[in-house]
Amino acid sequence: MTKDGLRNPMCCVHCGTTVNEVYVQYSPGNIRLTKCVECKCVADEYVECEMMIILIDLILHKPEAYRHLFFNYPNLNKLNMKVLIWKTCLLFLLLDSCRQSFMSAGKKVDTIKWDSLTAFVSTAGKLFGQVLLQNVIYLITIMMASYITLQRYSHSTFRWGDLLLALLFSSYFKLFTFAMMVWDFSPFMVQIVEMFVLSSNTIAVKVITSHSTLISAIVVALGALARLSMVAFSW
Ligand SMILES: [Zn+2]
Repeated sequence: MTKDGLRNPMCCVHCGTTVNEVYVQYSPGNIRLTKCVECKCVADEYVECEMMIILIDLILHKPEAYRHLFFNYPNLNKLNMKVLIWKTCLLFLLLDSCRQSFMSAGKKVDTIKWDSLTAFVSTAGKLFGQVLLQNVIYLITIMMASYITLQRYSHSTFRWGDLLLALLFSSYFKLFTFAMMVWDFSPFMVQIVEMFVLSSNTIAVKVITSHSTLISAIVVALGALARLSMVAFSW
């Protein structure tokens, strides 16, 4: 564990086994990738990949890419995980508020009003509060369900910060909704993006908790149901 106490040790992206290093550097620009002692594969070939390749593999829901992003990337780039969690939370909520405001435009639900500063602060604050509450319910349900299922089936554990960060990172696919603003799109596409985010969250839960895909999907589905109940109740 590193001195900030939050960063995970690096791991083999194929089997999740902890490794001390994913490459050995002989000289600047001259590295040799380390092999995993457990599965004998190269521990993390993404070290040599462009960010675009990693992004494509994340979109393709490859657990190897998720392990690289959650475990090895922060170590290789010496990221401060505490700061990263706070920044990610705040940015995620702001983006989700904007997304929800765009999506609710023209419907009989609360949206941001730009008539005056008072109206803006009031409506934006209310929307931000709703989005915050919905996401807190969603994340807490998933984290508690992950904890309970782990205690029941494998008696292993995980770090809450890891799961929170993994869920936030894997939810950034919601930004696809912004891309659809450029063109006319069917509201049905929003639902497809939502399903995509849920499936991405499933892989994130699977990678962090080592649950099977089925149990991870059930855990995420419980969170989605809890959030849906919250939305129905608040409207
Ligand atoms: Zn391995």
